[in-house]
Amino acid sequence: MLFRSLREVRIGRPDSQTTRLVLEFQPGVRLDPSQLRLVGTARDRWRMELVGLGGRALTPLGEGSLESVSVASGWRPPVIPTWTPRPSETPISRRPLGGEGLPEVPRGRYLVVIDPGHGGPDPGAVGIGGLRETDVVLDVALQVAQLLQSRGVRVLLTRTTEVDVDLPPRVSLANQSGADLFVSLHANALDISRPDVNGIETFYFEGSRSQRLAQAIQDQVLAISPGSPDRGARQGRFFVIRRTIMPAALAEMGFVTGSLDAPRLADPAFRRRLAVAVSTAILRVLGGSS
Ligand code: ZN
Repeated sequence: MLFRSLREVRIGRPDSQTTRLVLEFQPGVRLDPSQLRLVGTARDRWRMELVGLGGRALTPLGEGSLESVSVASGWRPPVIPTWTPRPSETPISRRPLGGEGLPEVPRGRYLVVIDPGHGGPDPGAVGIGGLRETDVVLDVALQVAQLLQSRGVRVLLTRTTEVDVDLPPRVSLANQSGADLFVSLHANALDISRPDVNGIETFYFEGSRSQRLAQAIQDQVLAISPGSPDRGARQGRFFVIRRTIMPAALAEMGFVTGSLDAPRLADPAFRRRLAVAVSTAILRVLGGSS
C-alpha cells in the first residue's frame, strides 16, 4: 500500500517565485534520488516519477492521481503520481456579491463543483471582437461560486485563474470531493461567418437528476436571454458529464460568434445575470424545488 511508502504530499509557496513540493516518505523507504523525475505538465500541475518504489500496491492520498506504469519488457515499478493542487474553496473575490432573492437551502449541507471550461493556453472558442470563451466562463463561474457560498453552499472550482486543466483532473477532483452536483460552464461557437446562429443549450449524460439540473439551468439562462433560441436541454457525451459520478450538466450559455449572444456575453452586467441564473437553477435542484 502506498501509505507504507509515502506518508504525505504537500505543496507550498514560500514566495511568489518559488513552489515547494514535499514528498514525505515513511521511515525505511529507500529511493535513488538520481532516478526521480519531476516534470511540470501545466502552470499548476506536476508529475513526479517515483522510480524504484518497489512492487507495492498503491492507494490514492486523496489529492492528485496515481498511476502505475508497466513497461513492455516485463513489469517495472515506476510509480507516477500526478498531483493537481486542490482548488481553493474560497474563490478570488472580485467584488462583493449578495445572494438576495436566491432560493434558500439548508446552510452547510451541500457541496457543488463548478467547472469553468478551458483556460490558460486553451481559450476555448473565440468569437466576435476577440471575445474569448475562457474569460466569459471564468467570470461567470467565480460569481456563481460567490452566490452559492452566500447561501451556505460549499463550492469547489476546478480552476480559479487562467490556467489550463485537463479534463481527467477536473473529473477526479469532482469525484473525490463527494460533491452533490457538478456544473461545467461553456460558451458556444460556430464559424465567425455565421453570426446568425445564436442560442442556449445545456447537456446532461444520464439520470433524472442530471436531466433536471440541465433543464433548470437551460430555463434560467433562457429567461434572461430574450430572442436567443432554445436549443434544448439534451443528452451529450462530453467527458466531464459522462465521467462524473454525481448529477452533472454542461451549459453552453450562448454563442461567442452570434450577433445576438456575443454582445451580451461581453457585457459584465449580463454575465452577472448569467451567474444569478445558473445559481438559481443549482439552488432549486439542491432544494428539490425544480
Ligand atoms: Zn467550451
